[in-house]
Amino acid sequence: MAVTTKRAAGLPLQQRARDSAVFAACIVALAALAIGLYVMFLRGVPAPDTGLRIPLLLLGAAFCVANRLTVTEQIGDSMQVLSALEVPLIAAMFTTRPVAAIAACAVGTVVSRLFLRHQPRMRFLFGFALNLLEVVGAMIMFRAIVHDAFVLRTSTWAAALVTVLAIRLGRTVIVPVVVRASGATVEARQVIGWTLLTLGACASVTSLALVAVMVATQSRLAIVLVALVCLIPVLAYRAYVLLRGRYARLRLLQDFTAGLSRSTDLAEIVDSALDRVRRVMRAERADLVLLGGPDAENGRFALGGTSLTVDLPTTGDWLWERVIDDQRSVSCREGTKDPAAATYLSMVRSRDLLAMPLVHGDDVLGALIVRDRTAELPTFGADDRELFVTIAEQTAVAIHAAQLAERVHRDDAARVRVAAHDALTGLPNRASFNLAIDTFSRGLGSDATTSAAVLSLDLNRFKEVNSALGHATGDALIVGVAKRVRDAVPHGATVARLGGDELAVLVPGVSSAEMAVQLAERVQTAVRVDYAIDDLTVSTDAAIGIALLPDHGRDHITLMRRADVAMYIAKEQHEGAVSVFDPGQEMAANRQISLVRDLRVAIENGDLNVHYQPKGELDSGEIVGVEALVRWQHPQLGNVPPDEFIALAEQAGLVQPLTEVVLAQALQQCRAWHDRGLGLHVAVNLSARSLREIRLATRVQNALDEANVPAAWLTLEITEGEFVNDGPIARRSLRELHELGVQLSIDDFGTGYSSLSYLARLTADEVKIDKSFVTNVADDDVNAAIVRAVVELAERLGLRTVAEGCEDQRTWDRLGELGVTLGQGYYLSRAVPADTLSMWLWERRRAGKGLPRTVPTSNIRTLPRR
Ligand code: C2E
Ligand code: CA
Ligand code: CA
Repeated sequence: MAVTTKRAAGLPLQQRARDSAVFAACIVALAALAIGLYVMFLRGVPAPDTGLRIPLLLLGAAFCVANRLTVTEQIGDSMQVLSALEVPLIAAMFTTRPVAAIAACAVGTVVSRLFLRHQPRMRFLFGFALNLLEVVGAMIMFRAIVHDAFVLRTSTWAAALVTVLAIRLGRTVIVPVVVRASGATVEARQVIGWTLLTLGACASVTSLALVAVMVATQSRLAIVLVALVCLIPVLAYRAYVLLRGRYARLRLLQDFTAGLSRSTDLAEIVDSALDRVRRVMRAERADLVLLGGPDAENGRFALGGTSLTVDLPTTGDWLWERVIDDQRSVSCREGTKDPAAATYLSMVRSRDLLAMPLVHGDDVLGALIVRDRTAELPTFGADDRELFVTIAEQTAVAIHAAQLAERVHRDDAARVRVAAHDALTGLPNRASFNLAIDTFSRGLGSDATTSAAVLSLDLNRFKEVNSALGHATGDALIVGVAKRVRDAVPHGATVARLGGDELAVLVPGVSSAEMAVQLAERVQTAVRVDYAIDDLTVSTDAAIGIALLPDHGRDHITLMRRADVAMYIAKEQHEGAVSVFDPGQEMAANRQISLVRDLRVAIENGDLNVHYQPKGELDSGEIVGVEALVRWQHPQLGNVPPDEFIALAEQAGLVQPLTEVVLAQALQQCRAWHDRGLGLHVAVNLSARSLREIRLATRVQNALDEANVPAAWLTLEITEGEFVNDGPIARRSLRELHELGVQLSIDDFGTGYSSLSYLARLTADEVKIDKSFVTNVADDDVNAAIVRAVVELAERLGLRTVAEGCEDQRTWDRLGELGVTLGQGYYLSRAVPADTLSMWLWERRRAGKGLPRTVPTSNIRTLPRR
């Protein structure tokens, strides 16, 4: 169980040392002054001739009792004591020789100390010297004013009153001055209040004493009457002082509670509680023991150091057993009859102590202990114990609240840690990577010689792995790559996973682009290995973009954007390239980055449209199908050409959702046309990457089922390059699609570098002759020869041919002569929205199925795009 202890002592040790030095000097000075004054003015002075005599013993006793009849008040850090010294003083002034008065005072004061044994010696000596000086001063002053006979005239008693008041005033002023000189704080307001109280009390007590003297001159026994009369104000005063004390404590308690509830910081609460407890309980020390919770971590509170821990309660000692183990309160003082308590007190060098367990519900939180009651006061009494119970309860509540707050805070910190890390790889996430950049950057001077590189990594083919082999494989790949990247970078670098397959590295101490490139290439080499995942072997490669800090920016936003720009450029160069950010490319890349972001949103929100371009039979002119072409109307940039955003979609891994959107729309439209008697085939373009997707056939089948369209009505256009450069997955996809009954078309035929003979090996139904051969086929004999060769070969293989990019009638006619099956191009129509195309088709049908002479193509061309 972790234990924390804390104590508040009245004054720091240094201050105490200074305190006692000041006290010693004062004592010597006061004593010297008293003796000097006595020798100069009072030596050999006889007793006054009032005829009153008082036995020396009685006078001594009176001084003793007066010293014990005290009212104390805490002023600043020290206790002020008001004693009823006026009574013996007045008695002495009117009845004895000065030397007797001084002797009686000295003896009485010393004897009174027997009852206040725990008072520190210095304090006692100080009080002793003050008492003597007071007596000497009063005697001299009184005799100076009333130099003739001690006849009790008005002037005499008035002089006595003034003398005593003046002496008392002197005393109330001297004490705070000395206390202040000793380094303690004294508030002027408190001193004034205390002085007024002292003078008031002094005036009334002195008056009573004077009355007693006057009465005594008449009849000695009448003093008894005076004593009886005095009883009433004495009792009233006592009651007042008690009330005042209670009130003061209530105020302290209120203060205490308010001070506690102001904070929820444990260390702060402990500090303020200890200080307040010590003051309220008027003790020289307050100690606090806090128990930790069941797990060790709970117990480690930062409470500041303690200098003297030896005399604090520890597990198993007498106090601990009582307070913490048995949950009892303890109150004891020197001279106790319990030997164990006495031993404990002497062991911890304390005069007295009060201890309370701090309990909340069923839990013991710790213990609160006050020790060494202020010297001027009697030891802790019943009142104090009652007060202490309340204080301990309040403290327990506050500490419990603070511990709760601390626990919540700790849990939050744990949550923050979790939130700062990527769950899969355990690497820092984007937020903490950004923070790492900014923190590094802040630590950089403006004339920075130190610098860093920010690397942005993007894994090639990761998305395919994910969709072809499943997310579990993708996850395992990321974990493997993350580990290799971490091992490849120098110590002190931060490797983070920003999301998906994006990793980033911050490498401090990279001062040149060359150095950064070398490092990036090392990372690439490390990543470019075969990863064994389950029984599969997966390979990958990373495109890396580099931004330098501070050359390319100082904040994470700029640096990450620029590293990404460089990464996109690297990716465009070839898979597994490295590129350092170049400001010139930023504009273009910025557009690309924002396009990708917006494209993702557009796909999700269904903002992509599909337009349709008709395909017609070259001999009959009949429209037999359409090609679905995607359109994106960007809210700010307007119409974005599909060539541009489809390339981006490929890079960003958005092709699959894009294809799904187009396929679904096109098939639904196909269904709608068939339902309205327009028996059109639809052709949908498959992007280069789609074929590498393992579940492509299933996805297509699902889309067909969803739209209730037979497979035979769908043509998938796949570019020649993809048909030829096939891997095992692509080959399988093609076979499966073919088995589904979907028509396969070799798009852009002629642009790939395969020879014509290659056609024979491909599983296709249609060859789409690229528009670069078609558009000017009427005038270019070479192109015409190529088209003728393709047609011949296709016919032999049983494939139909489609000529795309037919822009005018001459071309149309020429294509017919060359034996091409279908024609597509602006000559028939541009790609238009489905409704427009439907209208156009109905018009054509009404005009008798021929070529669309009834609807001029120019009208269609100028149709606004949605
Ligand atoms: P593509 O598959 O070769 O599509 C034919 C392109 O030729 C279309 O361009 C079309 O508007 C254009 N075209 C049609 N007739 C003529 C003509 O007479 N003369 C000329 N010069 N051009 C003509 P578009 O719509 O800009 O599409 C460009 C490319 O974007 C397409 O080439 C295709 O590769 C890709 N694409 C379009 N839609 C999709 C889609 O839904 N998915 C995929 N993966 N790719 C698409
Ligand atoms: Ca196409
Ligand atoms: Ca094409």
